[in-house]
Amino acid sequence: MSKLIFYYGTMRSSKSAQLIMTAYNYQQQNKPIIIFKPSIDTRDGNIVKSRALETTYPVYTFDENDYEYIYNMVKLRKYHAVLCDEIQFAKEHHIDELARIADELNVPVLCFGLLTDFQGKLFEGSKRLVELADKIQEIKTVCWYCDRKARMNLRTVDGNPVFEGEQIQIGDEEYLPVCRKCYIKFKNNSKK
Ligand SMILES: [Zn+2]
Repeated sequence: MSKLIFYYGTMRSSKSAQLIMTAYNYQQQNKPIIIFKPSIDTRDGNIVKSRALETTYPVYTFDENDYEYIYNMVKLRKYHAVLCDEIQFAKEHHIDELARIADELNVPVLCFGLLTDFQGKLFEGSKRLVELADKIQEIKTVCWYCDRKARMNLRTVDGNPVFEGEQIQIGDEEYLPVCRKCYIKFKNNSKK
């Protein structure tokens, strides 16, 4: 049986860079891997890229209504690992499918993504991974405003923190990694 692993971190914690470095390591040893991400994240098209690295990798996207697509793709060929980016946007049934890939096809599955949204709530895909993963590992980064560990994602629009709205918003908002203390301070200030 192979492992299902969840590497989580805030925005700008080099999650995609870690995924790319992992892909690179397998590639150097001529061990084929396959990369997936939910189609909802269309910022970079069909590649995975990182702020920190210049390398990019092709990625297969899946929709919320795709059942068995990932499983069947992985079954086609002897892959040494399955890597998933932006896994927070996956549905619960996708994570169940990834678990079956580890258990039935015996291929390790390494997922990278956010744990919680801009309101500090678990994403659907991340919640299911916390429930099912063999291993959960944090990719750490520092708060944008102080030196504590970041554990929240602050949504900003035109530089101003925003605490209301849809969980997934494709617009001109930006996200910053912040510690809980700074997050709560901004939230309390926004109510004044
Ligand atoms: Zn802080």
